[in-house]
Amino acid sequence: MPDESVKVAVRVRPFNQREKDRSAKLIIKMQGQMTTIANPETPNEEPKSFSFDYSYWSHDGFQEKSDGVLEPAGGSSYASQRRVFEDLGQGVLDNAFEGYNCSLFAYGQTGSGKSYSMVGYGQNKGIVPITCDEMFKTMDKNADPNKRFEVTFSMLEIYNEQVRDLLSKDNPKGGLNVRQNPKLGLFYVENLKRVPVGSYAEIEKRTDQGTASRTVASTNMNATSSRAHTVVTITFDQIIKSESGSETKKSSVMNLVDLAGSERADSTGATGDRLKEGANINKSLSALGNVISALADLSMGTKKKIMVPYRDSVLTKLLQNALGGNSKTIMIAALSPADINYDETLSTLRYADRAKKIKNKAVVNENPLD
Ligand code: ADP
Ligand code: MG
Repeated sequence: MPDESVKVAVRVRPFNQREKDRSAKLIIKMQGQMTTIANPETPNEEPKSFSFDYSYWSHDGFQEKSDGVLEPAGGSSYASQRRVFEDLGQGVLDNAFEGYNCSLFAYGQTGSGKSYSMVGYGQNKGIVPITCDEMFKTMDKNADPNKRFEVTFSMLEIYNEQVRDLLSKDNPKGGLNVRQNPKLGLFYVENLKRVPVGSYAEIEKRTDQGTASRTVASTNMNATSSRAHTVVTITFDQIIKSESGSETKKSSVMNLVDLAGSERADSTGATGDRLKEGANINKSLSALGNVISALADLSMGTKKKIMVPYRDSVLTKLLQNALGGNSKTIMIAALSPADINYDETLSTLRYADRAKKIKNKAVVNENPLD
């Protein structure tokens, strides 16, 4: 099985009210796979350019249908939720049916569009719900009596380096324990609820339940945004009976991660407790950055022996397989279009640029059923 790079997509959203109120200027351009960013302080300088697997222009060129769905207006190249699903979500789905682990994570500053791409709002459903919906549609079409499916759903958040089960009403003080499986070496969350789900409607219900119990603390940047990392895990098993009656199981674990805002605490006006919290959030995010850097160095062969510091944060422990392990992984970097966010957007682009270099070794998980 050849190594496969992490696929990276960037997506730029429309101006928000705050940016409009401040007469913000558009500094992002996209052409094919190229994304460029202009420094508003040095307008005569050549814009910095980056190349990604996918560059999604969702800044303008859309129209709103009567049901609220945003779609491209007359021939524009606006990238809708459907389009992003078709490029990224469909691949996740196909891989899950083949028995590969898949991970999808969204990175970017608060308000850049991470949750919009992952989960979506109202009728503009994001990749996660569309993928789940399509997954059950595909299962429902199965006509093979020797094949059955088992799907489970779990949802957690990492907040201040503590894990909370979003499907549980009584989380222990100090959070759930993260342990390492002695055989596989992988980290897992002890006592996390994993509920069997039999339909898309059930997944939707569980997602709503989990979303409602998230820790929501507002900052100046975005009053409703969560300052926590949210991780949805779906396990998808296909049990196949052979003519001799023996059964094999193909399994896929899908990790869908909506990261906390990547901005530094000081740029959001946070003070006191919020600031401490920002530091902890950044502990997980900077650990993620360090893991990505180490893996990028490894795959470029610039350094031979590198310890990848997975153990430095809860997030990197839980994402170990997604980063440099047995998983097909996609990162979506969400971008603000505005000059007033230049520094954060540039740092997001650089982060995404490093993530491209990570190589994973995904294998089909297929075993006899015991
Ligand atoms: P984040 O999760 O990164 O904090 P959100 O996804 O909540 O940011 O997005 C912030 C706001 O921008 C929301 O009101 C959302 O509807 C809007 N938005 C983000 N991305 C898009 C997009 N691609 N198209 C239209 N609106 C978007
Ligand atoms: Mg969000």
